[in-house]
Amino acid sequence: MVTQAFRQARFITSSAKLSQLPPDTGIEVAFAGRSNAGKSTALNTITDQRKLAHTSKTPGRTQLINLFAIAQDKHFVDLPGYGYAKVAITIKERWQKTLAKYLETRQCLRGMVLVMDIRHPLKEMDIMMLAWADAAGLPVHILLTKSDKLSKSQAMQTMLQVKKSVNVYPNTTVQCFSSLKREGIDTIHQVLLDWFDITEE
Ligand code: GDP
Repeated sequence: MVTQAFRQARFITSSAKLSQLPPDTGIEVAFAGRSNAGKSTALNTITDQRKLAHTSKTPGRTQLINLFAIAQDKHFVDLPGYGYAKVAITIKERWQKTLAKYLETRQCLRGMVLVMDIRHPLKEMDIMMLAWADAAGLPVHILLTKSDKLSKSQAMQTMLQVKKSVNVYPNTTVQCFSSLKREGIDTIHQVLLDWFDITEE
């Protein structure tokens, strides 16, 4: 069963700073995206747990990094949602610098899942994330969430447009995803199994 590896995910810790993350060993996969893109819901769906990542109606509240363990030395790093207008520019800039440094220097970081609402893909900060990941040689898998909000053909069309736009970043893949309809789960699982070097029977 392909989901088994991720069902074992458990919350380890929250931290306010990337510098407080555990030592740079093992394998890490980061989850990033704009606030409200559906990142927490996607994490819950991927791990088949209803409350692993808190889904919140108040984006930008406390900007915490949540760490989940999948197995020994295999972690998900749930980065704070970005794009929240009320965050002061100085805090935004400081955070962006930290984030860019994390993507560039974290040796155990194997890939990044970039979550975007399929109705609002490739906003400014998403593109910055792609550029930083590219500069760091880090693979990115784009999850176009809430695909149930569009018709099948609209969703497909958006996916193709996004694929075309990110063509400049060679290490980038794209898929549609819906937690509501439980669509695209096998695809993201396969990407994660590959990144985490997990082989399942
Ligand atoms: P986050 O801020 O990125 O963690 O976003 P959340 O996971 O809290 O989701 C934001 C909102 O989008 C919530 O109201 C979710 O119920 C909704 N949502 C998330 N995923 C889906 C989906 O696949 N389909 C639909 N229709 N709504 C979704």
